[in-house]
Amino acid sequence: MRNRHAGEPFTSSDDEIRTALEDVSIPALMLSCVHMSGDFTLLDGPVKPAGIFLNEVQGFMSEEDRATARALAFDIICDYRDRGCPEPAPVSAVQLKRMMNWLVAAELPDEYVPMMLEEMELDGRDQRDVDFESDPADRATFPVVIIGAGQSGLLAAIRLQQAGIPYTVIEKNSGVGGTWWENTYPGARVDVGNHFYCYSFEPDDHWTEFFAQQPELQAYFQAVMDKHGVTPHVRFQTQVTRADWDEQAKSWTVQLTRPDGTAETVSARAVISAVGQLNAPHTPAFDGAETFAGPAFHTARWNHDVSLAGKDVVLIGAGATGFQLAPAIADEVASLTVFQRTAQWMFPNPNYHAEVGDGVRWALRHLPFYGRWYRFLLFWPGCDTGLAAAKVDPEWPDQQRAVSAANDLARMMFTEWITSQIDGDVEDAEALLAKVIPDYPATGKRTLQDNGSWLRTLTRDNVELVRDGVARIEPDAVVAADGSRHHADVIVYATGFRVNDMLSSLTVYGRNGIELHDFWGPRPSAYLGMTVPGFPNFFCLYGPGTNLASGGSLIFHSECEVRYIMGCLDLLIAADKTAIEPRQDRYDDWYRRCQAELATLVWSQPTIKHSFYKDEAGLVHSLSPWRLVDFWSWTRTPEPDDFIFF
Ligand code: NAP
Repeated sequence: MRNRHAGEPFTSSDDEIRTALEDVSIPALMLSCVHMSGDFTLLDGPVKPAGIFLNEVQGFMSEEDRATARALAFDIICDYRDRGCPEPAPVSAVQLKRMMNWLVAAELPDEYVPMMLEEMELDGRDQRDVDFESDPADRATFPVVIIGAGQSGLLAAIRLQQAGIPYTVIEKNSGVGGTWWENTYPGARVDVGNHFYCYSFEPDDHWTEFFAQQPELQAYFQAVMDKHGVTPHVRFQTQVTRADWDEQAKSWTVQLTRPDGTAETVSARAVISAVGQLNAPHTPAFDGAETFAGPAFHTARWNHDVSLAGKDVVLIGAGATGFQLAPAIADEVASLTVFQRTAQWMFPNPNYHAEVGDGVRWALRHLPFYGRWYRFLLFWPGCDTGLAAAKVDPEWPDQQRAVSAANDLARMMFTEWITSQIDGDVEDAEALLAKVIPDYPATGKRTLQDNGSWLRTLTRDNVELVRDGVARIEPDAVVAADGSRHHADVIVYATGFRVNDMLSSLTVYGRNGIELHDFWGPRPSAYLGMTVPGFPNFFCLYGPGTNLASGGSLIFHSECEVRYIMGCLDLLIAADKTAIEPRQDRYDDWYRRCQAELATLVWSQPTIKHSFYKDEAGLVHSLSPWRLVDFWSWTRTPEPDDFIFF
């Protein structure tokens, strides 16, 4: 059978090919040409990438070099077509390493090679499915409950299905997607490139935008759920109210509320929490909020019955959400006042709102391994480079400005991007610059993707940026801390989520009747982000310490976590034991190491005054401080010695 990444054979005309090549990624195209032609001398020519950021867009090449590459590729593709599009010969490990080095314009460290190869699955095989050692008959009598049908819960369901483990997904909403079901505000889109932000085993050549909007993302998860036969196992509009570990039965008793409001109890040998970190909206209790006369709602609970057309809208909060929302509604409202307490760093990406052209889609569908190398291009720049820029150099002199030389460089790049957009024609350019250039180190909060739409919005006549907190809300206005009053017909809260209230929607009683949140106190943690002592056969996805602030994608992280959890279940079932939980000393050591590492990173620095990464004491519990390659390697196979089995 043809390798599914070798591309569908085609008979496109010369003209069609020439047109398609106009908008493809040149680095991915060149490597596809190596596969098609078997000619590795293509890597020795002068046409090559010279950097890694936004490689997928420009390939760090001059227009002249890109034209040369297209001409070269045209001949190779036509020849390949005329030969009937044969499946390219496999490439040796040495040659693959050469191709990777060429792509990143440097020597790719050896430790990354297996991870990148796995991510690309060039042999066409789903590389992160699990080779179970336990007896299938034993697996078939080990029911599992998954709480949540977002991207991680769906992934866990797919893997359990493949393993022949019976499972039920309990989902409070009436559809799949989690955050991509709930966040329907105008402008909602992913800010990790979609050809990477999708399951590694479900690559997609149908994305219509490089950073898809919410409806397309939700439709993707729906399609994957249907394709993998998960849909009949999902109970929508059903809420888990409580889970108790039954010491006698060595199983979990999970209490549910059905769609009709009635209660039900189900039993499961294991529970996987996939409730995520961004599922409990945070709406600050501003003085007078209850007196507001008009509609007011949180972005994650968008009220589609309210028309914003011709209204004075006050948007409170401008992190990742407000940043997307403001440009999407500025056109239709009479006025938009954006309350932004802290300015955000942003990163230029010309593809951020761009459509995927027909040429790119043609290449994704037909050119051997083009999509795989494209995935690599998106993954690599955010793969641990950002972590290096987040590391604090205690010797660096001005810690308010930057935490290290690398971090200062990022600051200069980001500042240049902001200032380059505000020219002398902009009224009060100086005042605006003072408001929009953050006063804390780059990457200290989540860095946002930007294509210029944010500043274009702020410089519109009907938009005002208030860089201040909220003093109070009145029946028809929001009053800023500086006393200025801003008329409002509608208030939209883009004030984020209660991220530090980890797993706040669940009540989970483990061994000896101890509730998870009581066990945690103010220190939510899980060994490798997944398991907690005293809570046997209980696993977290996107749990404490697994959010990513410096790159990667949560889908990649979920794939690592789900593989690990499947490994734990396999260990347990193969050992003919009933329960598995992490050793307390491993858990304690993990917590200590995570906190020590986080303290060396920009996100925990006192220069970052407000951030959802921090709890009230200024501690960070939600983020991973680790390199992706380390997390990937630690989670490949569970280490039996880390656990106790009953
Ligand atoms: P957020 O980053 O926590 O931003 C919340 C905003 O509300 C900030 O401007 C914050 O100001 C402000 N705020 C909070 N409490 C306030 C208060 N008491 N008074 C005044 N202002 C207050 O939340 P978010 O924008 O919803 O984003 C959360 C996360 O969701 C993102 O980091 C990302 O992981 C995810 N997300 C992703 C996308 C995407 O993929 N494109 C889109 C949306 C969200 P301060 O900054 O001063 O705290």
